Amino acid sequence: MKGSRLLAGQNQLDNNSLQIEASFLSREPHVHEVFQQALVDDIANAKLSWKFKLYYRLRWMIPVFVRQLLQRSRNSGFEVPADWFLPNVAIKRLANAASEEGIEILHPWPDGKQFAFVLTHDVETKIGVSLIDKMAKIEEKHGFRSSWNLIPKKYKIQQSLLEDLHARGFEVGVHGYNHDGRLFESKKKFLGRSNFINDSAERFRATGFRAPMVHRDLDLIVEHLDFNYDASCFDVDPFQAMAGGVGSIWPFMIGSDFVELPYTMPQDHTLFVSLGHTDTSIWEQKFAFLKRNCGMVLLLTHPDYMDTQSKLDMYDRFLGKIRDDDHGWAALPCDVAKWWVERERAVTRFKADKETMAEQVSEFGKFAISSFRGEGAEVRIQPIDSTRQ
Ligand SMILES: [Zn+2]
Repeated sequence: MKGSRLLAGQNQLDNNSLQIEASFLSREPHVHEVFQQALVDDIANAKLSWKFKLYYRLRWMIPVFVRQLLQRSRNSGFEVPADWFLPNVAIKRLANAASEEGIEILHPWPDGKQFAFVLTHDVETKIGVSLIDKMAKIEEKHGFRSSWNLIPKKYKIQQSLLEDLHARGFEVGVHGYNHDGRLFESKKKFLGRSNFINDSAERFRATGFRAPMVHRDLDLIVEHLDFNYDASCFDVDPFQAMAGGVGSIWPFMIGSDFVELPYTMPQDHTLFVSLGHTDTSIWEQKFAFLKRNCGMVLLLTHPDYMDTQSKLDMYDRFLGKIRDDDHGWAALPCDVAKWWVERERAVTRFKADKETMAEQVSEFGKFAISSFRGEGAEVRIQPIDSTRQ
């Protein structure tokens, strides 16, 4: 348990029993307020309906193809705007809060880079485990590495797999407990599983966690799990059982040492399985949006669903496009979390001493001072003195 994360400071979120204190891209009060309200709303919404609770109780006896039929019929009945994958409401509020004149912030990424590029995977089944290598090889071909979130109590995980992934520069994370959709059913149930999850983190040499079905209860995750970061939140995603989103396309801190890394690219399952898309045009539109707004491009894909050659080819081509864009910082999620903690500490120094800030270097690159301003319904973040980069 990380008691230091439970703070009773002035910024404590006053919502239900939430005990956490969060800090975001900027501490400027108007901007902070927008982020905080979006987080409070997401936490309030991150509850399962009685239908979903019942579904997860019975899920073990429903065949996979019936589950997928249920998901498809649910998703096709959804009324969502054409650009459902863009966090327009939150970003517009931020643009208004920052105003056209803008405010100074520490640039989100090292060396004034325009976006961060982060690849993550959840591995749902033992078939998925057997497909890891195919995806991993595509990533290696482009010079990328990713994290593989494995389920500790569902399929056999060979020590040799963990060692191989680490040796090749990949990261391994923990994907819940047994993936039954009931992790947050009650505090008692969660606490009955938390020790095993923490032991698995040690076995996997994992510093990151993602809850199955991106169910989330940040209070419980932060207080009882021994990770440096969580990746169970997302900026916007109307298709999840716990729909909603935190609105942020950047990481944020919870307490003084825990980082949340929201995924920002629509999941492969949503695009290619539930909605039946056959190309990556939505990923490309979202990538362009994130790049314009200097956000984090965080993908969540599953070897289980990227299970045909045509899907792997799409993935290959998409990674190739990102590789050819030299404005980004490609990093493992564990490194983005580390960078964000360093950046957060630097924000305090930045307030005290602006002059020397641009000379300060972290293990990932230089800090830059940027202007953060609204431009229409979006935000623009630009290093102020790019000659000093
Ligand atoms: Zn999963």
